[in-house]
Amino acid sequence: MNRYDYIICGAGLAGVSSARILAEKGAKILILEKLSHVGGSVYDLLDDSGILVHKYGPHIFHTNNKKVFNFLSRFTKWNKYSHKVEAKFPECNVPVPFNLKSIEKVYGAEKAEDLLNFVKKEFGTDTVSVMSLVESKTPELSALGKFVYDNIFLYYTVKQWGKKPSEVDPKTTSRVPVRFSYDDRYFTDEYQGLPLESYTTMIKAMLSHENITVKTGIDALKRVKLENGKIYFDGEQTEAKVIYTGETDRLFGYCFGRLPYRTLDFKFETYKKDSFQPVATVNYTVSEDFTRITEFKKLTLQKKDGITTVMKEYPRRYEGKDGEIPYYPVETDESRKMYGEYVKLASDYPTLILVGRLAEYKYYNMDAVVARTLELFE
Ligand SMILES: Cc1cc2nc3c(=O)[nH]c(=O)nc-3n(C[C@H](O)[C@H](O)[C@H](O)COP(=O)(O)OP(=O)(O)OC[C@H]3O[C@@H](n4cnc5c(N)ncnc54)[C@H](O)[C@@H]3O)c2cc1C
Repeated sequence: MNRYDYIICGAGLAGVSSARILAEKGAKILILEKLSHVGGSVYDLLDDSGILVHKYGPHIFHTNNKKVFNFLSRFTKWNKYSHKVEAKFPECNVPVPFNLKSIEKVYGAEKAEDLLNFVKKEFGTDTVSVMSLVESKTPELSALGKFVYDNIFLYYTVKQWGKKPSEVDPKTTSRVPVRFSYDDRYFTDEYQGLPLESYTTMIKAMLSHENITVKTGIDALKRVKLENGKIYFDGEQTEAKVIYTGETDRLFGYCFGRLPYRTLDFKFETYKKDSFQPVATVNYTVSEDFTRITEFKKLTLQKKDGITTVMKEYPRRYEGKDGEIPYYPVETDESRKMYGEYVKLASDYPTLILVGRLAEYKYYNMDAVVARTLELFE
């Protein structure tokens, strides 16, 4: 073990970018990954019909952070994909974020123009949050806000977070924009796309460094133990720093209780046709048990005729059973307090570093995870 300066638990984006940054500074790194593959949530692979799919949910890279983009661009080229999402209504699909195209589809072109004029007059900007519309003095805008809230957010949020409609706090959607322009891109970030080949290829390129050793299929918590401010590896005290990217409550044996999460069941379906739906992701905002369907070929821009694979996402409560993956932290005052207690405990271990979406109990986008590792280790 003395050969390693860092033991990294987890080979997701947080562990892998930490490893690469530190390896380039001359540190010797050992990464232990529980799963049989590297990449964590961004892992992708070819399915039985040769379609490149994202095993743990669709991932679209987007950022305004040039440093993050430049760092990752050393390990991959990008495709030119710009994310488009529609919401499935009974009569037709409408683009989301709700924009002038959506308004025209629902209300017709003439009324859309009236609404645009009302917005210019009252707000003087072309992007207004749903809640500002709901609370608008202009009855037509307030009705539009209510329509968008009820038909785009309410049921989707109920499914995503397992709440009753009455429990959904309107404030949770208060920052969601309605665009009074024809810009129907889901993300407006300067840099967006998917790795030209695959996320897994990018991750493997990041790991390809003489100072990095990766071992998959190993639960790090079977080898790394924390006791009285000291860290032990395979029973011997280690001077190596430990970067931990797994669940923090599990690291400490759930001593303050389990942090609540939502998990997802994914259902893949392959169809013998060129195309399944008009855009990569269709959100089911007023019907169905699943939240959305994503068609992978439309994200990856893979050329393959006569066959396509889609994925349905079913959110539910995470119970910590074998094989279940915690995806979304359920942030409440109580869970934040519990996480705070774990962090306090972690501070007894000066050579322990918690990084990433699980260890920091935070919803991080990919760019934010990489930004965090650059900030910590560069
Ligand atoms: C459904 C879904 C869709 C998403 N879509 C997007 C998107 O479109 N764009 C975007 O920017 N972000 C997206 N994200 C967020 C993105 O997945 C994360 O920001 C990023 O992957 C987090 O990386 P991470 O390394 O922190 O965590 P993870 O990818 O979860 O990696 C943690 C790794 O640690 C391993 N591990 C845990 N415990 C142990 C242990 N004890 N021993 C060994 N290994 C262990 C796990 O197996 C895992 O491989 C999405 C997230 C989800 C859930």
